[in-house]
Amino acid sequence: MPGLVDATTGWVVHALNLGVERLDLRGELSRQLGRPVAVENDVKAAAIGARELVGDATEVMAYLNVGTGLAAAVVDSSGEVMRGIGGAAGEIGHLPVGGDVPCGCGQVGCLETLASGSALARLWPQPDGQLRDPFAAAAAGDEIAARAVETLCEGIGLAIQLLALAAGAEHVVVGGGLTDLGDPLVEGIAAQLRARAARSQLIAGLSLADRFEVLRSDVPVAAVGAALLPRTTTPLVAEGA
Ligand SMILES: [Zn+2]
Repeated sequence: MPGLVDATTGWVVHALNLGVERLDLRGELSRQLGRPVAVENDVKAAAIGARELVGDATEVMAYLNVGTGLAAAVVDSSGEVMRGIGGAAGEIGHLPVGGDVPCGCGQVGCLETLASGSALARLWPQPDGQLRDPFAAAAAGDEIAARAVETLCEGIGLAIQLLALAAGAEHVVVGGGLTDLGDPLVEGIAAQLRARAARSQLIAGLSLADRFEVLRSDVPVAAVGAALLPRTTTPLVAEGA
């Protein structure tokens, strides 16, 4: 479930993209299904799944989801997901980084307004709303598409640097719908990270271009993570069916 999910109480708040302000998700589902239910934030569940599928048990791993929005989750070396205040840890899409684009969260210039599917749709609008490949368009000479993918990759690079510096991530797994852009996206992110390293010995020492990988969107990380939830969250109490 997107939004701030309290895995202990089962309540969800501020699921902005779904228009949900406050919901007792676990309670409602438990009542309707007549069985215990675990709830988790979608990106945190994906991080648990990514650690299981491609992570290393001894590393600090971050999962960065680039879909309609931008969000991350960090799993520490013992396998615990960092939660923070009300589950807000990892909501780096709402860190204002510059620019004047209003964000759905009420702030202006959030990282999500640069590096997300919604940002790409704004930066390179398609009159018929169809999904097209901006990298292919850029390669064919579309300058607006070229600027859009530059901004996208720069923003994702910034997110990776942020996760390494602020959360200690040693490995960043990038997932979400935009990963369908494939190799050009991987190359674009790596080029941004190499450019950051070329400007700074400090950043060069982090070897960020070697520490990220992009998962195809058909790798079911969130489903795998959700399947693992009962052993990663507080024991559940079935609510009256
Ligand atoms: Zn925001």
